[in-house]
Amino acid sequence: MKAIQVRQPGGPEALEYVDVPQPEPGTGQAVVRIEAAGINFIDIYHRTGLYPLPIPFTPGSEGAGVVEAVGPGVTEVQVGDRVAFFHPGSYAERAVVPAAKLVPVPAGIDARTAAAALLQGLTAHYLTASTFPLKGGEKILIHAAAGGVGGILTQMAKARGAWVFATASTSKLDVVREYGADRVIDYTTEDFRSIILDETASTGLDVVYDSVGQSTFNGSLDCVRTRGTLVMYGQSSGPVPPVDLLSLSRKSIYLTRPTLGHYVATREELLWRSRELFDDILSGAVRIRIDQELSLGEADEAHRLLEGRQTVGKLILIP
Ligand code: NDP
Repeated sequence: MKAIQVRQPGGPEALEYVDVPQPEPGTGQAVVRIEAAGINFIDIYHRTGLYPLPIPFTPGSEGAGVVEAVGPGVTEVQVGDRVAFFHPGSYAERAVVPAAKLVPVPAGIDARTAAAALLQGLTAHYLTASTFPLKGGEKILIHAAAGGVGGILTQMAKARGAWVFATASTSKLDVVREYGADRVIDYTTEDFRSIILDETASTGLDVVYDSVGQSTFNGSLDCVRTRGTLVMYGQSSGPVPPVDLLSLSRKSIYLTRPTLGHYVATREELLWRSRELFDDILSGAVRIRIDQELSLGEADEAHRLLEGRQTVGKLILIP
């Protein structure tokens, strides 16, 4: 079967389109025939070696498709089930996945949407429901709100009743408005920090959700209110340098750097979050925007687009 493999970390050309043996399921595992694989920024960190993986490896962190075979002891799924997963190795025609990590995809949601939604949607869910639970009425900031996570996060925050400042680059602002953001800021031409302090009478915000990292961190910190929370959940502009703890004491700020794996640590939690995500998609509260579909062999091009800041929403690969 066909798969993408990385034999040496590096640029997009490190993504090689190769023939690999058909996978067999071991105890507790299932083989999923992949109908669509989602592209995520973390795949870039794996490819470049920022988050090192043993080589060679098949990249890709999520996919959706049909269970084709199950190994001994599998109780969670059956052959023929429609499933999605957040697990390594999805840039391939088939993947072996622990059955406990497979979530059922409800009727009404196709494989493309499921693959586009799962990882980023679970992230938006834990950020709004658990890391800083939004109860309604909070004033918040979401960076890169036209992005994969950012777009779903904006829609979920609005559904939970928050008042949302949202940033994006120039060509993407209309999309952020469509997601329902209350005040849209072009952070490539405007100073988001001074706009927010001005429009909150210098009080600042209950929470800032920041996935951009290096280029926004200092401004984000300044936008948080006294005893507010700064959630740094990514670094699309580069990693944030070490932080002086005293910079938090100015306003007794809570700073957290969460990771999805810790918020879907049990099957119960994984099923709860994915069920609520799929319900939001089915009800129309959350719209999944697929920017482009590419073939599996075009994984390198997909990475160039995402790294090059040229996407609005999600890229998926179709094997
Ligand atoms: P996005 O779709 O958000 O793509 C990245 C966006 O970041 C770009 O489109 C761009 O939007 C913005 N950006 C700002 N500066 C830069 C830059 N210098 N280079 C590239 N992009 C830039 O990606 P994802 O939604 O997949 O992921 C966003 C971040 O969230 C990543 O760092 C990812 O690792 C992280 N993440 C963290 C998780 C967690 O649990 N902690 C889980 C999932 C994702 P614009 O043009 O509008 O500025």
